Amino acid sequence: MNKNIPIPFMISLLILFAMAAHSQHLSVDSTLYKNTWDNRNSRTTSIITNGTYRLALNPENENSFVFPCRDDAKVCSNYGIRGGRLHTGMDIKLNYKDSIYAAWDGVVRMAKTSYYGYGAFIVIRHNNGLETFYAHLSKVLVTENQEVKAGDLIGLAGRTGRATTEHLHFETRFLYEPMDPRTIIDFSTNRLKADSLIVRNKKFYGIQVNDTLAWENEVSSDTSVTAADSLTLTDSTKNTVAAVQPTPSKTPASKPNYHIVAKGNTLSYIAKRYGVSVKELCRLNNMKETDILSIGRKIKLR
Ligand SMILES: [Zn+2]
Repeated sequence: MNKNIPIPFMISLLILFAMAAHSQHLSVDSTLYKNTWDNRNSRTTSIITNGTYRLALNPENENSFVFPCRDDAKVCSNYGIRGGRLHTGMDIKLNYKDSIYAAWDGVVRMAKTSYYGYGAFIVIRHNNGLETFYAHLSKVLVTENQEVKAGDLIGLAGRTGRATTEHLHFETRFLYEPMDPRTIIDFSTNRLKADSLIVRNKKFYGIQVNDTLAWENEVSSDTSVTAADSLTLTDSTKNTVAAVQPTPSKTPASKPNYHIVAKGNTLSYIAKRYGVSVKELCRLNNMKETDILSIGRKIKLR
């Protein structure tokens, strides 16, 4: 009988359970982000500390990066100084209601129908330590604290907030500090440029491809980091403040997660090619067999 268990004890047990359930999907972030999990504000003050962080962009045992919208969309404005102010993301021209996808696995930190100039707006915190912002949406299809997988449909494109045309404003941030998404994403192929991103002494320092440091300190104006100070794998592990993930080794998946619709593709073609039934494709993508497949659309395969 429960009458022997004091009520305060039961309450603390319940609180412990709730905390355990909550911390579960914030495992990596809770240390990195000093336990801050704010649904109200996007936050702008960087909390990057000195030392070296290596962020896995193509993490093991996770779905890797998925470009956040259709592949044939064109960049209409880059990250950089615009009108005397820093434009903190990439603008990608889209049509009204085009699909917006989560870039990596993660948890939705913010899902707002209106957030200042961003309009309808989503922030996802990823297991690799990055956060991505998706702005000017016409519809938000996720809720705060919801877990998402790379490539999940999270919203629809629009022009809400400070926007003069339908487009996606896409940001990549680390510990609240914006960085140029082109550092890690090639916007001509819409693929990742590297396996890891290295942040060192508060600078977006380098990217690593197949264990080789491909680039160092180009975006930074900091001259204290010289070429002689180049980073090796061992150095960076030694100095690591928060190792997010080990450097990934690429293992090809037996079946990709997505198929990008090319000219002439039909549902039955895609079904046959990947050994998935048309019915299953319809279910996974929330569509009807008679729907027309637009070129560049990502079709979920599992
Ligand atoms: Zn923008």
